[in-house]
Amino acid sequence: MKVYKFGGASVKDAKGIRNVYSILKEDASSDKVIVISAIGKTTNMLERVVNDYINGQSPSLEEVKRYHFDIIKELFAENHSIFDEVNNLFVEIEWAIEDSPTSTYDYEYDQIVSVGELLSTKIVSAFLEQQNFVNTWVDARDIIRTDNTYRNARIDWELTSDLIRKFISPQCVYVTQGFIGCTSENFTTTLGREGSDFTAAILSYVLETEEVVIWKDVDGMLNADPRFFDDAQLLNQLSFSEAIELAYFGAKVIHPKTIQPLKEKNIPLRVKSFLNPANEGTIIFEDAEMLPFLPSFIIKENQILISISAKDLSFIVEEHLSHIFALFSKHGLGINVMQNSAVSFYVCIDNDIQKVPALMNELQSEYLVKYNDGLTLCTIRHYSEDDITKVTGNKSILLEQKSRHTVQFVFSS
Ligand code: ADP
Ligand code: ASP
Ligand code: MG
Repeated sequence: MKVYKFGGASVKDAKGIRNVYSILKEDASSDKVIVISAIGKTTNMLERVVNDYINGQSPSLEEVKRYHFDIIKELFAENHSIFDEVNNLFVEIEWAIEDSPTSTYDYEYDQIVSVGELLSTKIVSAFLEQQNFVNTWVDARDIIRTDNTYRNARIDWELTSDLIRKFISPQCVYVTQGFIGCTSENFTTTLGREGSDFTAAILSYVLETEEVVIWKDVDGMLNADPRFFDDAQLLNQLSFSEAIELAYFGAKVIHPKTIQPLKEKNIPLRVKSFLNPANEGTIIFEDAEMLPFLPSFIIKENQILISISAKDLSFIVEEHLSHIFALFSKHGLGINVMQNSAVSFYVCIDNDIQKVPALMNELQSEYLVKYNDGLTLCTIRHYSEDDITKVTGNKSILLEQKSRHTVQFVFSS
């Protein structure tokens, strides 16, 4: 058995969905679980709906609706049952946003944003069926059990394993949603942005599949994001450990939680292009030698660098640090780089507008806090001095950190 994951870009329009069918049709292996993300940038659109809803600014579903209906009009005859199914999912959101919010932002977010994946999988599953590609649509909320940390739910591995084994049997083809799960009280959760890769890894881990294939709009894992580096090159193979490092530092091509479960069961991960399916792509497996051996460049934009000092400018000691870390953890903010001097502690984090203001408020009540926003963090793995010059040029660097294999810079964008 294999797990295939198709991201938003692969199903962004009718042509993309037809292409997914042609990839599946060409594939000799019969049994697989197909994990699909929301179509194109649907998640971003639904995030805007949630934000308007929470801010009391009459949210509109029109853009998302038009997008989905335009696609299904191209793929199906007018009387196909998919029109009702898609409509019903939109009605669910309309009901959810009819009344004022009663719960937290994170809870409301998950109830609304998760519909993106329900829509895409209903559409793809129905299209495959129409092409006589027999498949079973599975509601991921029946098989992925999580806690109630909305927007970043943690997997209950024991229950999830039992449920996956109950719902998925070998020799069949399934279509299910990435990114979403469900609490034991039946509330929908999401696993964090870009979490569909992680869903694929969870399924693969439990089912002990032969491999996982993540289909992308790039040839595989490259040594840099081609949106920032036009000379980015394909990495033909690399080890799980190297892939974990790249994903951890922010290489957007794979969700950081994806690798660990696969590494544990020694299941190879392939990253392939849905545009050139005949190409081998990148294969990631235990102890793989990195081929070709290249420096990797990782860019993270929209960073904020915060400097924290005691109000009496005394030394920053362990007591302060443990309090500061507790605040970051409380606000669910991961630290990308940190550094300290005698009287200041510097932290570079993603400037999440939902979370950072609340953290700043709390920090400011106890410490002297300064910040710079609109920054970029660049990480280079396996760097040389030339690589550093290539990235930093004559930019003014606000923070720099070097270890044997990795160097990181924070600079103004
Ligand atoms: P999906 O359709 O699965 O959501 P994403 O858009 O999240 O796909 O991921 C693919 C994109 O990741 C590519 O188009 C590319 O711009 C970006 N990317 C960032 N870093 C890398 C990298 N190291 N290798 C390949 N692609 C990368
Ligand atoms: N649709 C979700 C997102 O855009 C999950 C994913 O694509 O992996 O974040
Ligand atoms: Mg994505």
